[in-house]
Amino acid sequence: MKNVAIIGAGFVGASIAYALTINSDDRRVTLIDTDTEKAHGEALDINHGLSQLGNSFAAAGDYSDTKNSDALIICAGKGRAAGQSRLDLVRENILIMNSVTDSLKPYYNGCPVIIISNPNDIMTLHAQRRLGAKRGKVFGSGCILDTSRLIRCCAQYTGAGTGEISGYVIGEHGDGQVTVWSSVKVCKKAIGEYCRSSGLEWNEEVRRKLSAQVRTMGADIIKRKGKTQYGIATCTLALTRAILGEGDITAPVTTGVYGQYGLSDVSVSLPCVIGRGGVSKILEIPLTDDELAALKLSADGLKGVYKTV
Ligand code: NAD
Repeated sequence: MKNVAIIGAGFVGASIAYALTINSDDRRVTLIDTDTEKAHGEALDINHGLSQLGNSFAAAGDYSDTKNSDALIICAGKGRAAGQSRLDLVRENILIMNSVTDSLKPYYNGCPVIIISNPNDIMTLHAQRRLGAKRGKVFGSGCILDTSRLIRCCAQYTGAGTGEISGYVIGEHGDGQVTVWSSVKVCKKAIGEYCRSSGLEWNEEVRRKLSAQVRTMGADIIKRKGKTQYGIATCTLALTRAILGEGDITAPVTTGVYGQYGLSDVSVSLPCVIGRGGVSKILEIPLTDDELAALKLSADGLKGVYKTV
């Protein structure tokens, strides 16, 4: 059995536990939460159907259960309410992250840790420092979800299938995110070229509208249902599968950078290779001058917020 521990059994943690257990028949998922009854209830609910699929199971536990983990996922923390930005959560969630890392550290075995809590870039850098983890071991889901949303939006605009589209959103997982339009390809062609050959409009106004749609999609869901959970759960499943050795993936996740694009002392999303050990490589893809300037602005903004806490 592969052991995955999830800290924070709220909407997001429980959805990740559900995704992980129904996706494979050899995973043991432990849910840890200050609300032990909630963690227990979620584990029971998930377990009751799993015998139809195989041997995976979920259980509630405590921090001592993390010592044999193959992967850890931290999603404890407040979620944003309608009208709030992710950065508005920083003061409250940093205290929660302090409590989680203090409890985790005595049992931490050096396995990869995925941070989901928001503001994601700041929580990732903070957790990495407090756990004293090696480079690449602690990373946040960052802009993998924004990139997924970008691909969905481009598919809707161009009519191509999501499997035919690639590209990246980088920078802050939040309002300071940067859509790297120069990286977006549709059916192996640059998106501008694809649109022009298909008779579709492609100009600054179209790009601005699509980028805004991607940036506000999370807030739009929160306005409608109060939470987001399934999108991030699916992205976390993809990241966890890579960590558990089911094949490396390349995705824009947030991790402490060390000189890429001249950036340091900050965690920010860049395309990374993720595999059994966590992040094995941060890729420096070509950026236009405007994209590079926007990335630097995004990183500076995060540094400024981290300094205040
Ligand atoms: P939630 O309120 O439903 O759940 C949070 C859980 O954390 C609660 O069960 C709470 O009891 C638990 N908790 C609080 N303090 C704790 C502690 N010290 N130790 C252990 N558990 C503790 O919230 P949610 O909707 O599940 O969201 C969780 C976090 O994930 C939020 O910060 C949210 O903003 C973030 N999130 C991130 C993404 C992303 O793309 N990275 C997407 C959605 C949500």
